[in-house]
Amino acid sequence: MVIDYVKHSLYIVDTSTGAKQMKPADKSPELAQLLDNLSTLVYGRVRRDVIAKDTCVSCGRAATTFKDNISRKEYTLSGMCQLCQDKLFG
Ligand SMILES: [Zn+2]
Repeated sequence: MVIDYVKHSLYIVDTSTGAKQMKPADKSPELAQLLDNLSTLVYGRVRRDVIAKDTCVSCGRAATTFKDNISRKEYTLSGMCQLCQDKLFG
């Protein structure tokens, strides 16, 4: 499987199938690792893994529907679905 990292895109595109996948937000390796460690500690899930699977770091459910692009972008940062974002941010 070839993964084409599209610059400035929220998605990873699988060029063999054309399937789009959410891409964790670009961060420094150290910060990404810190966020992954935090999510593992707090939720028992690795942030980058759940984002790759389109699931929520907090509740574990599918995270595929967002009310706007801000929430979608937030998902690539926190890995939280719309429902959990709403609970956290009100
Ligand atoms: Zn959730």
